[in-house]
Amino acid sequence: MTHEVLIRTQGKTQVLDITEEIAPIVQKQGGEGVCCVYVPHATAAIVINENADPNIGLDLLDALAALVPEGKWRHDRIDDNGAAHIKAAILGPGETIPYRDGRLLLGRWQSVMLVELDGPRERTVLVRAG
Ligand code: ZN
Repeated sequence: MTHEVLIRTQGKTQVLDITEEIAPIVQKQGGEGVCCVYVPHATAAIVINENADPNIGLDLLDALAALVPEGKWRHDRIDDNGAAHIKAAILGPGETIPYRDGRLLLGRWQSVMLVELDGPRERTVLVRAG
């Protein structure tokens, strides 16, 4: 079964730790398997990275902003968010995480994060375990 998790983002760009939204779905499924976390959006992404220092999320957004400047893309003529699409394409829409005994096998410092690149919006995160 594929679960839908709705996340309301706050800023134009934002990195949100969504591990606590996913863990109960995997726990309920139990056993061993693979969990897919996927955003069906063209200007958001899923990444796995460190949770302990919130500056890592901000650094990621700064690095993407430096790499992909705003306002110089063909798509900006249509809806003015060309940079957000490029950043989302670089990061990718999903991650796959193995689990065992109903627990995600994330590293000690890893979390699953939703990256908002053209918010604020309500985002749907699709989670499939098993
Ligand atoms: Zn667009």
